[in-house]
Amino acid sequence: MSDLRDLYQEVILEHSKAPRNFHDLADANHKAEGFNPLCGDQFTVYLHMDGNTVRDISFQGAGCAISKASASMMTQIVKGKSRAEAEKLFERFHSLVTGQEPQKNGEDLGKLAVFSGVSEYPARVKCATLAWHTLQAALEGQTEATLPDEE
Ligand code: ZN
Repeated sequence: MSDLRDLYQEVILEHSKAPRNFHDLADANHKAEGFNPLCGDQFTVYLHMDGNTVRDISFQGAGCAISKASASMMTQIVKGKSRAEAEKLFERFHSLVTGQEPQKNGEDLGKLAVFSGVSEYPARVKCATLAWHTLQAALEGQTEATLPDEE
């Protein structure tokens, strides 16, 4: 298990050092900002929606390794998906990082499974979910994400 944990940590560090889709989006038609006061993570998520499909997605901002890696991987996995698929992924991801889905252990979530360890650190849950809450806000046409008090 510790080998797996090291590997997960490596993936998170690699994404936080070289985040994917880390730029603004000239043809964005949705954009939202998210802020995690617990840690100071702050991101803007840009979306180019084509009907109900996420044609393109990017983000900018600053935050801890977990928040940045989560945003980076989120943009990779959500690009090309429908709004409904993206929302379903967030639901699954949220269950994973809050430890509500331990028996499934992140299967089908692909690379996002590297965040399963976050469930052991409740204070870091919002770091992992910030980008997703911000995506959700952008999908709903909001300009600012609201983070729930309890996660
Ligand atoms: Zn953070």
